[in-house]
Amino acid sequence: MFNQYTFSQNHNSPTYYCSKKLSGCQAIVKLTKERDAIKEAITIHNHEPPKYMKTASDLLITDPRVKFIETVRGARLMMLNGFTFSQKNHKKRWFYCSRKTNKCKSRIRLNDDGTIMCAPVGHNHPPPVFKEMSDGRFYKVKK
Ligand SMILES: [Zn+2]
Ligand SMILES: [Zn+2]
Repeated sequence: MFNQYTFSQNHNSPTYYCSKKLSGCQAIVKLTKERDAIKEAITIHNHEPPKYMKTASDLLITDPRVKFIETVRGARLMMLNGFTFSQKNHKKRWFYCSRKTNKCKSRIRLNDDGTIMCAPVGHNHPPPVFKEMSDGRFYKVKK
């Protein structure tokens, strides 16, 4: 992350390209060989900085379709298309459907730059219904 823009590394080289390189952005950050300082930086982007959120384990999420909600039980859930996902292992970038115990196999994997790598496969259940409480937390409505 540099000046609110996300950069990703190409094959372990000291040059980092803007995460939006594929959409034609020319911005790069070159580090010295020792990688302790910036040697050269072209920071003219052809787009706004991505809006990102942090997960509980400090992973960045830049995908605009995702939002986070906090439940009344204190769990932080990732919400995508009305379905909720939670991170089971903080070291991994996988988020599993909150209904995993219901044998739902839907899951999401994040890329290093915070975008979603795998779109979730179909769920075997309808999306959960949440009610927003006055304190901003969410309560799952049981059917
Ligand atoms: Zn850029
Ligand atoms: Zn599911």
